[in-house]
Amino acid sequence: MKKTDFQRLTDQLETLSPEQRTALKGMLSRLSEQDSVSVLTEFFSAKCSTCPHCGSAKLYRHGQAHGLPRYRCRACHKTFNPLTGTPLARLRLRHKWLSYHQCLLDSLTIRKAAMAVGISRDTSFRWRHRFLARVKDDHPKSLHGIAEADEMYLLESEKGARHLARAPRKRGEAASQRGTSKEQVCVLVARDRTGQTLNL
Ligand SMILES: [Zn+2]
Repeated sequence: MKKTDFQRLTDQLETLSPEQRTALKGMLSRLSEQDSVSVLTEFFSAKCSTCPHCGSAKLYRHGQAHGLPRYRCRACHKTFNPLTGTPLARLRLRHKWLSYHQCLLDSLTIRKAAMAVGISRDTSFRWRHRFLARVKDDHPKSLHGIAEADEMYLLESEKGARHLARAPRKRGEAASQRGTSKEQVCVLVARDRTGQTLNL
């Protein structure tokens, strides 16, 4: 939109009724949710290069399912999407993932992240562990259509886990080993053209 048209549009905002303001807010937030889903789809599609069932690189596009591109493997003939076999497979509410990622980056607690994104505490708990599990499994080497990328390290939280893989750590305590180690989860942070960040 041209600058002058945008100015005209914003000048009209003051004339909106309270109901119209609410409706407009809803429209804007739906638009940004759609944006984040298409950013994710683009991101995951770019990363899908081998079959998660047999490892073959001979794939072809085979339509679309649940908002994600679907592929079929020429070797084993199975179909899959870019999330098949990853901790993110079958997680719902994909339009909220980017906002939830931001909460992880901001080190929000499970409860605060749930409130910020509008999901239940149970979902927030599950997402945190799934997202971090994915980060541990997968260190993507290339990003496509992404403006900038950087790495940051978070101490892995095993909060809520019944069997800790290490001695418990006190709040704010440093890792037992200096530098980067297995205790820290490397998070690849990517910022796309819409200014949203993604750590996967
Ligand atoms: Zn295969």
